[in-house]
Amino acid sequence: MSAGQMRRVIVVGAGASGLMAAITAARNGASVTVVDAMDRAGKKLLLTGNGRCNLTHMDEYPEESCFGAERGWIREVMRQMMPEEVRHFFLELGLPTFEKNGYVYPVTGQASSVTAVLTAEMRRLKIKLKLSEKILALEKDGEVWRVRTGSWCYEGDAVILACGSKAAPKTGSDGSGYELAKMAGHKVRPVYPALTSVLCEGDFFQTVTGVRCRATVSLYRVTKKEPKLKEKPQKGSEREAEKASGRKSEEKLLLRRESGEFLWTSYGISGILVFQLSRFISACRSPEKERILEADLLPDLSEEELSRILAVRAKTLGQEKLSVLLTGLLNEKLIPVVLKKAGMTKKDSCEKLVRDGRLAEELVRAVKYFPLIPKGTKSFDVCQVCAGGVDTEQVDCRTLESKLQSGLYFSGEILDVDGLCGGYNLQWAWASGYTAGRAAAQSGSLRDQK
Ligand SMILES: Cc1cc2nc3c(=O)[nH]c(=O)nc-3n(C[C@H](O)[C@H](O)[C@H](O)COP(=O)(O)OP(=O)(O)OC[C@H]3O[C@@H](n4cnc5c(N)ncnc54)[C@H](O)[C@@H]3O)c2cc1C
Repeated sequence: MSAGQMRRVIVVGAGASGLMAAITAARNGASVTVVDAMDRAGKKLLLTGNGRCNLTHMDEYPEESCFGAERGWIREVMRQMMPEEVRHFFLELGLPTFEKNGYVYPVTGQASSVTAVLTAEMRRLKIKLKLSEKILALEKDGEVWRVRTGSWCYEGDAVILACGSKAAPKTGSDGSGYELAKMAGHKVRPVYPALTSVLCEGDFFQTVTGVRCRATVSLYRVTKKEPKLKEKPQKGSEREAEKASGRKSEEKLLLRRESGEFLWTSYGISGILVFQLSRFISACRSPEKERILEADLLPDLSEEELSRILAVRAKTLGQEKLSVLLTGLLNEKLIPVVLKKAGMTKKDSCEKLVRDGRLAEELVRAVKYFPLIPKGTKSFDVCQVCAGGVDTEQVDCRTLESKLQSGLYFSGEILDVDGLCGGYNLQWAWASGYTAGRAAAQSGSLRDQK
């Protein structure tokens, strides 16, 4: 590129981060072409927030709600466009936003207005938008980047890969971006569904499907350990019994705890609370390390309070069935399931509980530590984002330029960064799009400062 010529930037992907990258690159003086496989820009954006688009989250430390890459690496990118600046950016485009408990939405309540203002700005900046063109390959020839469709080749001085992940492939993000990254020599970390429902083991789910339940759910990593012969377990301890029987012992490590409402389904559990836990379940593939969920089905009562309430009520109810004891505390569909977990049936009488303190303890445990064994998550088709992606160790967090290939940039979900529900994923898309777009437009200047 000779001096005085505009820098040509090609953006692959017209999703949230690609649109932000394109606008930022054009505002910084580049001649920009955006290429997308779909027949319209921002198809996934239209689905966000149930069509209302939760476009960011007012958080001083948004990187703390993101995972994958190292936190300091994510922070560096987030700092370039913080939630307040995202709101300002949209306000300038004529789209005021409002905040509720940190969640930010357009005042119109419509995701379509977000894509509308972005595409209007693209037209104003004379950004070329090429739709229904899937990029199949990219290569570098000297200082020139070539990206190819089946029948065409675009040339540029810089390429931004903003192809998204494998989540919701009907919106265009079919994982082909990872293949493009690999063509450029980049490592892609294993990709798993995140922000999705969890499938659980058990034959009772059909009976409780549709029940909504306030709960605190804890996710543990359970590591099974062979009993060590050298160890001397205490006499009479559980550990000693394990050793004698050759049983493996378990180590439980709390990974995450979420409170709120969840939904029982025919296959397992769902709802925002469950979505937040799902990435930690789907990314588990090692047979040595298992995940277990424990649901506290009465989070507002302590174990002691619940024990007291049950003891007093059980005495008062006497010959009445145990199901009566729990009516008023749990949804009636959950009662037989909880009683079974505690080794009882709903036909047992309350007196049984009064007579046997151990049974009463078991019942309290079943309510406060109801175990759920996850066997996986829903598929890429229905998840909201993906965990995993382009390895960020090979990408410079100041510019999002490849450390392997000059002039190649990444933004959005294609990178190994995924956030919690609440606007964090779009916040990542905007901040990373802004970072990559600005750097790609500024020729080699930022790179040369390294
Ligand atoms: C149902 C749903 C609801 C969501 N709600 C929210 C929410 O309210 N708040 C929030 O923060 N996040 C939400 N998310 C997540 C958020 O939408 C994504 O994290 C974000 O849109 C990712 O942006 P992106 O630009 O990286 O990728 P995408 O939006 O997936 O865009 C990638 C684009 O690249 C194109 N592309 C891919 N490969 C190629 C190729 N080879 N050639 C040409 N084009 C290609 C695709 O067609 C697509 O247009 C939601 C996601 C879903 C599925």
